[in-house]
Amino acid sequence: MTVQTNHIKGNGRYDIVWEDSFSELMGQIKKLHLKADKYCIVADSKVARVYLDKVKEILEKEGLYVTTFVFPEGESSKNLQTIQNIYTHLIGEHFDRKDILVALGGGVTGDLTGYAAATYLRGIDFISIPTTLLAQVDSSIGGKTGVDFEQYKNMVGAFYNPRLVYMNLSTLNTLSNRQFACGMGEVLKTGLLGDDDLYIWTINHMYEIEERDHEVVQELIRRCCEIKKHVVEQDPEEEGMRAVLNLGHTIGHAIEKLKDFDLTHGECVALGTVCAAEISHKRGYLSTEEFYEIRDMNVGFNLPITVDGINPNDILEVSRKDKKVEHGLRRFILLKSIGNAVIDDTVTDEEMLEAFEFINGDR
Ligand code: NAD
Ligand code: ZN
Repeated sequence: MTVQTNHIKGNGRYDIVWEDSFSELMGQIKKLHLKADKYCIVADSKVARVYLDKVKEILEKEGLYVTTFVFPEGESSKNLQTIQNIYTHLIGEHFDRKDILVALGGGVTGDLTGYAAATYLRGIDFISIPTTLLAQVDSSIGGKTGVDFEQYKNMVGAFYNPRLVYMNLSTLNTLSNRQFACGMGEVLKTGLLGDDDLYIWTINHMYEIEERDHEVVQELIRRCCEIKKHVVEQDPEEEGMRAVLNLGHTIGHAIEKLKDFDLTHGECVALGTVCAAEISHKRGYLSTEEFYEIRDMNVGFNLPITVDGINPNDILEVSRKDKKVEHGLRRFILLKSIGNAVIDDTVTDEEMLEAFEFINGDR
């Protein structure tokens, strides 16, 4: 027996739009022909201070009913408690299945809002307005939503796509240097795993990127989005090759957890990528020059190359509990060459420990 369905929420196609302001937002939303009576904008406390009124006003100008849900900024809010608070808010505002959530903010807001949208009333539509470099180059595309649970990163979640991703690139102007660098952690990862041309282009444009040259940053974001789109369209639910997007994340997530989120996600991914490159180097896939170039890119983009206060054995322990463990084997991502990542489940504890020593600031 086959059950044939038409459109299922969260599984459709969606446009990614790049603009320099919010002025086209309403026009883009109108194109979706939504039947919503109510919109709820979800934002963290920091983003809310800068952008919430502006976006709310744009929607209200069209006569829409708009409510807002603001949560304390930071990864520590990415949990089921915040999801519950969103549900309570939506129920209090009588949201029904036609109504819309709007994620306004970085990866934390996108992951939370997407998951709330995926689960409230078995799924309502949401629109994503990513405002960090990390969210614009990576997390707003591909439909991964979810929250951290107990000590596990992204342990509870759903694949659920937005109806629209609207990027206002001018929002990057208010991003701190540290948060901008954090996005670069995922950019470097993206070039390394999928496009040696992007990787070389990024090296060649280091100065302009650092200066946040508008044209260059715009091209950077477009190129990263192209790669991510290409990978997730082939394997939307990570049944196979999509896992290459996790380059740097096995050790990265372990560091993120062990440092109790004192380091940003992008910083941890950058450290994890250096470890993955080191293992790839030791195996003879990358040359010594290539390895050092990857490490030096972290320096160039204000990302860390060492981390202290971590017991190397804890890295092994935590990474065994990562979602990326299948049949007891860690699914590690290695680089066969620059621009070509492969999934490898043969990385040993010894290889991981040796690679970690390379970034261990306590040596
Ligand atoms: P974030 O959402 O916490 O934002 C970082 C900080 O920047 C916050 O303090 C926020 O208030 C502030 N901020 C956001 N936009 C701003 C702006 N325009 N101006 C000034 N400040 C601004 O974190 P993030 O780095 O964007 O995202 C990290 C999260 O994304 C992690 O939880 C990670 O697991 C997740 N992630 C998800 C995916 C995915 O595919 N779903 C991919 C990569 C990362
Ligand atoms: Zn990531």
